[in-house]
Amino acid sequence: MAKVAFIGLGTMGLAMARKIIEGGHQLAGYDTNPDAVANHVAHGGSAAASPADAANGAEIIITMLPVGEIVKRVLFDASGVLKTAGVGSLVIDMSTINPVETDEIREGLAANKVRMIDAPVGRTSEQAKTGNLLIMAGGASNDIEEARPVFECMGDTIVDCGGPGMGARMKIINNLMSTVLNVLTAEALTLAEASGLNRDLAIDVMSGTAAGLGHMATTYPAKVLKDDVSPAFMIDLAKKDLGIAISLSETLSVPLALAGMAEAVYATAHDEGRGSQDWTALYDMLRQKYVL
Ligand code: NAD
Repeated sequence: MAKVAFIGLGTMGLAMARKIIEGGHQLAGYDTNPDAVANHVAHGGSAAASPADAANGAEIIITMLPVGEIVKRVLFDASGVLKTAGVGSLVIDMSTINPVETDEIREGLAANKVRMIDAPVGRTSEQAKTGNLLIMAGGASNDIEEARPVFECMGDTIVDCGGPGMGARMKIINNLMSTVLNVLTAEALTLAEASGLNRDLAIDVMSGTAAGLGHMATTYPAKVLKDDVSPAFMIDLAKKDLGIAISLSETLSVPLALAGMAEAVYATAHDEGRGSQDWTALYDMLRQKYVL
């Protein structure tokens, strides 16, 4: 059983700390909010007086804080974790922060011979309460294995994302996709209802197409992930349909924030001579420019 420090007992952290305690580990919690600490203690947790106090003697030090600046303060300030963290101890930052800050934090800890895993989480406080989080871990594989018993208290899906900083990157890219899709989903359903469609029917129809199932699960494996850009459905036809949707939204005075920008990407593909390729070739176009 590990000796764990847990700093940041908020919406997520309180529930995560509780699951670690239920898993039989010894845990000292710290938060600047006395109510959060009181709640933690009321559920059988023990309270530390500062990040340094929590980290004293801990093998694993977990941070679950709002932003990177606060994570840095908690680790590096005068009463911070580094004041007491033992050589070779393992810091796990589970906050969602900018990966550049993650890299800076890792360097600062390494200079003090403290190891680090970035391990932000997916899902919500509901899954935090039941120990069913998705944990995206970035770090040395042996460090992730060492932390696995503690991770398993909090999550049911633990992914080694492929090296230091990759958990933070995976989380942000996942959230890019889900936050932007959220806007598109809201806009599409608003346009559906404004057009006179029944909302449940629209959801039902789109749940069976790439719109609802997602391109990663449908059109990409069929085509572009196999380096096949021959058209099942052409870029120029997709561009035409998008243009009609924009026109419909203008007729109904329902503004679409993303559609015009998407149309510009299709136009670029057309201008680059890709109009008769498969619509998934948008990915090929960007990848050729920015990755390969
Ligand atoms: P929260 O605001 O509820 O909790 C943050 C806690 O940190 C608070 O209790 C606060 O008092 C404490 N805190 C702030 N400054 C501190 C300091 N200097 N020292 C010690 N404690 C301090 O936020 P949350 O919802 O628990 O989210 C935490 C992180 O997890 C964020 O980075 C968030 O983006 C991420 N996240 C949240 C969810 C979610 O559904 N809420 C899901 C996935 C990831």
